[in-house]
Amino acid sequence: MSQAQSQQRLPLFVCSGAAHSQARFEHKDASDRSWRRLHGFTRPFTAIFIAFWISWVLLALSLFGLMTRFLPDPFGWFIHWILALVALAQISFFAIAALIDTESHTVRDARELHGVARDLKFIKRTGHAIIHPTTFKCGICNVVVSRDTFHCRQCNKCVDDFDHHCAWLNACIGKHNYGWFIATVSLGGLLMPVCTGLAAYAVSIFFRDNTRYTAIVSQLVGVSLRGMPETVLAYLFLQCLVGLIISVGVLALLWFHVKISILGITTLGFIKAEEQLKKTGKIDASLHSLSATRKVLSIIKARTALSRVGKNNESVSINMSTPSAASASVATQNPPISVGNTSECPR
Ligand SMILES: [Zn+2]
Ligand SMILES: [Zn+2]
Repeated sequence: MSQAQSQQRLPLFVCSGAAHSQARFEHKDASDRSWRRLHGFTRPFTAIFIAFWISWVLLALSLFGLMTRFLPDPFGWFIHWILALVALAQISFFAIAALIDTESHTVRDARELHGVARDLKFIKRTGHAIIHPTTFKCGICNVVVSRDTFHCRQCNKCVDDFDHHCAWLNACIGKHNYGWFIATVSLGGLLMPVCTGLAAYAVSIFFRDNTRYTAIVSQLVGVSLRGMPETVLAYLFLQCLVGLIISVGVLALLWFHVKISILGITTLGFIKAEEQLKKTGKIDASLHSLSATRKVLSIIKARTALSRVGKNNESVSINMSTPSAASASVATQNPPISVGNTSECPR
């Protein structure tokens, strides 16, 4: 692969990363396979990635320029600075998660140490995996990878322990940045409810102590602006509503990752298991590499799924490496789910 090919220029901005990668992969020009996105801050930038940064800045301005001002002294400033540190940590973790190149080290080493070049002639056929389902050789990266590796179409690279391609980070989440991603979501799950609570508290001041409310708003925006207390009140109401929606979303995401972490699977693995359960009534759980505790938890999950499906009078079997532990029928001859041998990104 020549240097010119490897530096193929991508567009600066696209509305949707998924649509962009779809167009790229449907393109029959083989030289198109040479491009690879290093991290979230490399082109193309997506609308949702830019929207995140604008929203974050606006939210920080609201939180520290308006909402914390309603807190009573002397604790108000203390809480203000604690929240500022948490917000700084959160955006730093976000940037780190987005900046890490999540490319599989197996692929990177093969390229850098052994000069393995990409297969520029590879053509993605609908329904066929980029990584071969049995040999685990990536058709584009030209390297045999591990079973938990996935070739992300939006980044056009193999990612070890692929979890998902995050539109907010504009990057893949995998082995090398999953911890930073979880740290970012965790702090978001802390900040957003606090932010919403502070907005609600400020609204309550309007009704409980209107004189103090008006004095604070006047101090912030100037006494000459008529109708400003009511305008700020409407903004605070909006902040409560939006903050509540985002809080629920972030906490649900965090809870989901706690669940799959306990089960020892990735987001992609979870999606595949759900799809398989719906289609075939079976769960080919990838339990061979999991610890005993995780196996037990997976069995509990499988039983929950059984009872759910059982209510609909559907037959269900579970493929497990420990047949006696499962109450359902066993079919170990089927290959277990592998998050790495699939062809499509979940997004
Ligand atoms: Zn690959
Ligand atoms: Zn990706």
